[in-house]
Amino acid sequence: MDGLRPAALNATDTPFLSQLAGEGFTYDHAVATFPALTRANAATLATGHHPGHTGIFGNRLWHHELGHIDTADVEDVRRFRDVGAMSQATIEERLSRLGHSTVVIGNGSAGCTYLLNPGSDAGHGARIASVATDSEVHRSVPPNVMTGLEDLGPRPASDDEALEWAVAAGVVSITTNAPDLLIFWSGQPDTAHHHTGLTSAASTEALRRVDQAVRTLHAAVLDTGRECNLILTADHGFCATIESLELTETLNEIADRAGLPPNGFVPTFNGGVIFGYFEPGTALPLRASVASQIVEQPWAGPVFCADAYCPADAFPLSLAVGGDSPFTPDLIITMRADPADQAGPTDPPARALHARASGTQAYSGVHGTVHPADMRIPLILHGPAFKPRTRCAAPAGPADIAATAYKLVTGALLDDADGRVLTESLHDGGSALPAVERRIDRGDASVTLSRIEDRCYLLGGVSANRISTSATVSQIRTVP
Ligand SMILES: [Zn+2]
Repeated sequence: MDGLRPAALNATDTPFLSQLAGEGFTYDHAVATFPALTRANAATLATGHHPGHTGIFGNRLWHHELGHIDTADVEDVRRFRDVGAMSQATIEERLSRLGHSTVVIGNGSAGCTYLLNPGSDAGHGARIASVATDSEVHRSVPPNVMTGLEDLGPRPASDDEALEWAVAAGVVSITTNAPDLLIFWSGQPDTAHHHTGLTSAASTEALRRVDQAVRTLHAAVLDTGRECNLILTADHGFCATIESLELTETLNEIADRAGLPPNGFVPTFNGGVIFGYFEPGTALPLRASVASQIVEQPWAGPVFCADAYCPADAFPLSLAVGGDSPFTPDLIITMRADPADQAGPTDPPARALHARASGTQAYSGVHGTVHPADMRIPLILHGPAFKPRTRCAAPAGPADIAATAYKLVTGALLDDADGRVLTESLHDGGSALPAVERRIDRGDASVTLSRIEDRCYLLGGVSANRISTSATVSQIRTVP
């Protein structure tokens, strides 16, 4: 459920999800893979690999040969895969090769649905997209399911109505094909949160629709007489936007002051986080100068910088991003969030600054910062495979969900994945291994990591100083 905050679950708006949380195995400290962006987490959920391996860091990326990449666009993702990104097989593709039936039903962007299983292009698992504006619709859908989809009539013209069409498509898939694994991606409540804020009437309505969607899909499985093991989660949390800042010029000025040629430093804007890329061959001192200037910006939260030239008040990128992907940005600049509510998702929601390119749209809700409110996600495992009525304090995330889903269907381990099987959640599993937390301070910022055996989770990070709100970038200040 895209952008579903754990704190948004309540008996009034999400009665079914709350019931699942009470009956099932619930993680209280589950976190998104960093960065807390949709397509980064979609790729991780699909493969069990973090962005440091998939190369899918977020929604708007840059590559020195391809230029700008919008991962909402299937053709952009295909071009990116052609140069080596997202080379890992998805769990759907692996399961399909083993003879299991799988289906992805996406109610988000076409690129998001595609990233959940690119293998569907080659016939490995079905892919169904509900958003009518997508040119990419259905791939590898079995004929009897296709007939059922045609009976649903045309997909609705508006993205907003597409959720109910997607749910109906899910019911068709369940009742006619009984897939071994169904991944359902809801574009709500993310869309409502971005456009209208976290506590708007539209957001509350979106939560109710999401709750009904899960209830309907769950009931459809039980109606077939089969068992239903359901894993409910989200790709990221959310913050309320304090202010939306156009930062293209500011970043150009910084690169210019460092002595870089025009376009020597390319930023891509992802709401709560900016990715920075240097032209290949840029000298390390010039890179270091850009990084140092950015860390000092009052709008910048924790900044992650390539280890080779990381300033003392930034965080080495290797702390937050493992792997050896050549597509890892040189700088990951998170936007500053209010340091209050460091414990995690709360109501009222935490607040953060929103970054955008000049001339683009401002949003009322933002995510992508490293604040715990963005990193924390719901994670509920419900059904006969899981321990009932248990709350767990261990960290867990989307890579683990992939490994666990694969284990549930095949009984085997997802070899070489970054995720771990969530053994402690399984009916026949032991208790959770102890997690070891570590806080790292740099400048006025800190990040907290948690480790279980050899798996590392970035729980969140904050800058110590508050933000003074204002109308223009030059007036943004930090206040101790
Ligand atoms: Zn979003």
